[in-house]
Amino acid sequence: MVGSRSGGVVVVDLDDTLYAQRSFLVGAIGAVAERATSLGFDRNTFADAFTSVLKRGSDTGKTIDDTLEALGCSSNDVLTARGPLVEAFINFRPLSMSCYDGVIESLDALSRRTLLACLTDGNPDLQRAKLQSLGVAHYFDAVVITDELGGRSCRKPNPVGLEALSRALGLEVSESLIIGDRVDKDVALAQRVGVPVIRVRQGEYRDVPSPLGVATVDNFPEAAALVIAEFLAT
Ligand SMILES: [Mg+2]
Repeated sequence: MVGSRSGGVVVVDLDDTLYAQRSFLVGAIGAVAERATSLGFDRNTFADAFTSVLKRGSDTGKTIDDTLEALGCSSNDVLTARGPLVEAFINFRPLSMSCYDGVIESLDALSRRTLLACLTDGNPDLQRAKLQSLGVAHYFDAVVITDELGGRSCRKPNPVGLEALSRALGLEVSESLIIGDRVDKDVALAQRVGVPVIRVRQGEYRDVPSPLGVATVDNFPEAAALVIAEFLAT
């Protein structure tokens, strides 16, 4: 159980749990659309099409292909344009990023009471850059980016990320508590391995209902307060 700095770990998701991923995506759309102009696309037309595709779900793995297809590109044109546009996306770095209100204070409060780890999916360089840009990296005793363990198939709810994180901290998987926004990732992972979870209902997937019995709050500070009151109380 999560109990003290030596007794367990609170495992925190990144995107849409600690900051609004939408704010990042708006910048990334601009960077990709800018690159698209050098390939002969109209900037605004491309940006509008990319935005529409992303609205259907930002982590499908083929959003740029889908955008090019929506713009009427042949499969050969998709093959040619995909590389530079994907590169523009993963190399995009916003000048500054901010956490949701109260997140920094809550991470600080948790880190004084328990081991704290970040478990996130996505491009490793990009996810690490986000942690640095948000100014939260130093709160975590361990960070695992699932894609580093073997690609997209290792993403949550695959338990390999949580297992790697537990090993790095010298803990059992059963000693974790998960906080995250995604029912199909964070909640599903917790349920698969049988550990407590708090679902933060915000961001792109906020309208997805929580399964019955899953603790659900409106933001990360509420989740942290719940952890401190219910799981770390001495
Ligand atoms: Mg998330």
